[in-house]
Amino acid sequence: MRASTLANRLLDLPGISVSDVAWHGQQLVIDVRLRAGKLACPEMGCGYLTRAGYDTRTVPSWWRHLDFGEHQVIVRCLLRRLECPRHGVLVQAVPFARPAARFTRDFEDVTAFLATKTDKTTIARFLRIDWDTVGRICERVVADGLDPGRLEELVHVGVDEVSWKKRHNYLTLVTDHDTKKVVWGKAGKDTATLDAFFDELGPERSAGIEAVSMDMGPAYAKSVRADGHAPGAVICYDPFHAVKIVTDALDVERRKAWNELRAGGDAEAAKKFKGARWCLLKNPTDLDERQAAVLRKLKRRGGDVWRAYSLKEAFRKIFSGDLTVDQAAELIDRWISCASRSRLPAFVKASKTIRKHRDGILAALRLGINNARAEGLNSVVRLIFRRARGFHSPEAALALVMLTCGPITLQLPHEQHNIRAG
Ligand SMILES: [Zn+2]
Repeated sequence: MRASTLANRLLDLPGISVSDVAWHGQQLVIDVRLRAGKLACPEMGCGYLTRAGYDTRTVPSWWRHLDFGEHQVIVRCLLRRLECPRHGVLVQAVPFARPAARFTRDFEDVTAFLATKTDKTTIARFLRIDWDTVGRICERVVADGLDPGRLEELVHVGVDEVSWKKRHNYLTLVTDHDTKKVVWGKAGKDTATLDAFFDELGPERSAGIEAVSMDMGPAYAKSVRADGHAPGAVICYDPFHAVKIVTDALDVERRKAWNELRAGGDAEAAKKFKGARWCLLKNPTDLDERQAAVLRKLKRRGGDVWRAYSLKEAFRKIFSGDLTVDQAAELIDRWISCASRSRLPAFVKASKTIRKHRDGILAALRLGINNARAEGLNSVVRLIFRRARGFHSPEAALALVMLTCGPITLQLPHEQHNIRAG
């Protein structure tokens, strides 16, 4: 096999032929020529093609490609410019790299794949790029690969807020209940944030939405109800959020009891009690031996904390999935009445919130919207954000969410081989 043929095979990039290979220090620099053909406008979705070159650039463009062993590989190519009737004079697009990228598609696809699987330090060290670059690569891969039909025919959607950074930095995410994919996202968590979703959807597609599930804050409901959005849609409250309100009430009662013990001078008991937090908040089936023993002790002691715990568990069990909607309705009403008469202030308050949102909670059950979605999304997003340990922008955080939870098929270079051969 001739060296140039071998170099072409090794590089395995579409639409080019290798003209020279040379070492520049530790870097392997491969000069390539684009095969003859039309020049393409680089703007996303433009598709303008022309045979007429505007001029040829005087310096070659370069991209980093996948490493060859320990050596970084640089692809270099002298490009031409074209005049697009819509976008003006621009450097031509290349088939092996995304517009404005300093990396080949293969390199970016590998980076995006790793970003969904592992942590920041590993990626930065393995690929020898910084984390902000990873974020920008994820944004490009998502812009390029996200299913453009994802906003068509939405019927049941869920809206969630997730925190992407400490100190009140949120993303609003819209999930299609039917495909279980995140289809839209934006920085922020107020009414205007969700308004942007409906603006993008337009009145016709918005009118097709029949149900929207959400947390119990007023912001998202207000946007759904607005004219031109989905005023006729049923608003459902995820049981996940309802259970969370009751669990938070239990935590308030627990903390109060702890403070009373401490104020009473019983430091030892107070210390032990503080450690009981997870025993109370976790599902009893998730407790280990030691935690289960702590729970038994709390039961023997009785008092307000045990009553609060029993109320929380009774509420949680309503949503375990084995009840009809009517049975659940009956139990919710019974629970509201018990909690409101419990003389536990946090539970009296929680019972008011649950009463106010009762119909929306039942609507979620009727439509089969259960804990799994909101809970699952919450834990996936928390995991990927923890691995990322911070982003430079909400767009980068959103890109990683879309790569992991969105309608996008992420393939590694060797998995794309068949497509290329075709
Ligand atoms: Zn164009």
